[in-house]
Amino acid sequence: NSFLELNLSRPLLRACEKLGYVKPTPIQAACIPLALSGRDICGSAITGSGKTAAFALPTLERLLFRPKRVPAIRVLVLTPARELAVQVHSMIEKLAQFTDIRCCLVVGGLSLKVQEAALRSMPDIVVATPGRIIDHLRNSMSVDLDDLAVLILDEADRLLEVGFSAEIRELLRVCPKRRQTMLFSATMTEEVDELVQLSLTKPLRLSA
Ligand code: AMP
Repeated sequence: NSFLELNLSRPLLRACEKLGYVKPTPIQAACIPLALSGRDICGSAITGSGKTAAFALPTLERLLFRPKRVPAIRVLVLTPARELAVQVHSMIEKLAQFTDIRCCLVVGGLSLKVQEAALRSMPDIVVATPGRIIDHLRNSMSVDLDDLAVLILDEADRLLEVGFSAEIRELLRVCPKRRQTMLFSATMTEEVDELVQLSLTKPLRLSA
């Protein structure tokens, strides 16, 4: 039970080592191999379980393994709140530190102009709150999601609680149908299940 058994590339293993990760947490051990297979994932997991690396590592691996031909946004991570987005972005930057993968943060409170420029430069990964990314979609046309390969809905129960249901539906309409989607939630409510039906295809269900 070590990261070495999870079929991750050297730069990612180096980052785990540098972060002091010795053993995958249960959600990581369950999620990483399944996510690497490309299947959709519905995970019950709380903060502290290591869920961020559980979705970030296989996603980074996918980007390394299938390099893009043209600059494009390939991954969108949606989180319910700005602080969580900041944490997820920082975690992804740490895990990607030995790669040339670029991750950009799109949340309220930061300059729209600066974010617009960042989005137009086509970072590989965008970590965003739904309200702010929708602002960019509607107003500046700076978000091009045509080449999106992976969509991650983090803390789905909170995303719905804080009222982002309409924004998520709007985003789902502009995401390519052929993509991998991973949804994580601390609780599996009826509303979360509806979102699962709407956004995932034959998901594998995991809990940790
Ligand atoms: P998360 O549940 O993603 O918010 O992660 C909670 C904390 O656990 C973060 O500070 C991570 O850096 C840390 N963490 C994640 N995976 C591991 C691991 N395999 N070993 C030790 N710490 C970890």
